[in-house]
Amino acid sequence: MVRSRKLKMASIWDEPTLLEELNELYVKQPEILAAKIHKHLLTTEGITDLTSVATIQDMPKGVSEMVVSKFTLMTTTVVEAVTSGDNAVTKLVIQLQDGLKVETVIIRHGAVTAHNPHGEKRTTLCVSSQVGCKMGCTFCATGTMGEIGDLCAGEILEQLIHARQWAEVSNIVFMGMGEPFNNYKQVVSAVNCMIDGRRFKIAPKRVTVSTVGVIPKIYAFIEDLPMCNLALSLHAPVQEQRMTIVPSAKAFKLPALMEAMDEYIKRTRRTVLIEYVLLAGINDDVETAHNLGKLLQPRKDNVTINLIPYNTTNVSDPYKPPAYPTIQAYIDIVMGEYGCYATVRKEMGGDIAGACGQLVVSKEEQKSAPVTTLVVDLEDMMGKAPKKTSGAAKFGGENAPHQSGAIWPTNQTNKKKQKRTAGVPEKRKESLLVTKNASGGVCKALTAVLVGVASVGLGVALYGGGEL
Ligand code: SF4
Repeated sequence: MVRSRKLKMASIWDEPTLLEELNELYVKQPEILAAKIHKHLLTTEGITDLTSVATIQDMPKGVSEMVVSKFTLMTTTVVEAVTSGDNAVTKLVIQLQDGLKVETVIIRHGAVTAHNPHGEKRTTLCVSSQVGCKMGCTFCATGTMGEIGDLCAGEILEQLIHARQWAEVSNIVFMGMGEPFNNYKQVVSAVNCMIDGRRFKIAPKRVTVSTVGVIPKIYAFIEDLPMCNLALSLHAPVQEQRMTIVPSAKAFKLPALMEAMDEYIKRTRRTVLIEYVLLAGINDDVETAHNLGKLLQPRKDNVTINLIPYNTTNVSDPYKPPAYPTIQAYIDIVMGEYGCYATVRKEMGGDIAGACGQLVVSKEEQKSAPVTTLVVDLEDMMGKAPKKTSGAAKFGGENAPHQSGAIWPTNQTNKKKQKRTAGVPEKRKESLLVTKNASGGVCKALTAVLVGVASVGLGVALYGGGEL
């Protein structure tokens, strides 16, 4: 049973609640005023609370008093920050106002890719949309938690605000804990704030929302966020087989799911990322590869397959990762015989439990221990046709410290509780920080790093983390 979550003080970043309150005051054009308040907070230096909202020009009567009495600058706290040994991944454990914890993961790409031979500069943030998840995918540690609660839009945005203390985020992927389309309204609200030019200014094409296939919400997504990317967690090309891996496939059947995906492609002209976890002896055989090729070949120009070798977790399950030759054979079939572009995700952040499918926190651990989450980056494959490329490229790490565009209330920073803070910039240890050129980037995405797969003359992307 999903826990009903009622916060004592709402987050000022929670736009649905802010609009409700502004409507109570009969404010004209509440959406414009909400954006004005956010812009003020993001561009005014030294903010530690909401009192300065009163200084905003032409504030309607009673609004600043309402804001101060009903909202708080931040409802969440970073209780742990851990950076991987190669500095490529930083995992933040974020405690919510009611004590629940989620995780958000920063992935610094800086890698040489086919699109940028001198090295990518982007940084991807993988955000959570729920605490736990009810979909129960059999390979996913998060699925063992059940659905504990939904995050409000403000809590989703606060993950970005926290992350901007560590990195200038350029991409966002909703691939952390939870099924975003089971918390649709809050996710759409958060994305709209992320891509708003008055607020976080993240390019829509750098925002990716991943679903295991909640069909009605795919159609809603086409209407609400057609400029953002869709990722579909497929995991099996045949209905019967898919139901054994993705239980929700019983309700959302494959033919209808393909119809919804085709509609997304037709209406948006965007590429869909097909996420496919490879489970040894389950869905990595030659016959399944042919079935996947046959399923996707009719839409091969508009999909990219991201093969994700299974990551072992500490949750008991029967799965094992496939051997490399098996992965290669799978790629040879789907790419070589069916012309479907495919990549292989490289695990990043495995040493800090930040890799794909490792996200789990028991109900007991919710009270005391950090959560693990998933990470991904898809920019090379989303929103534009991927280049079919060959040749080896080296993978490089980058741990760019936070540069600009952050808001951070130091009174919300629990430094004592941070067990490890590798990669934490000096700025973060100073005062509440908001720079005038606030401009971070967000995304539930995965960043691909191309490595050579000479045998098929095509690229394979190596990734880290992400919701499956
Ligand atoms: S893979 Fe995604 S949808 Fe499936 S159980 Fe895990 S978090 Fe939920």
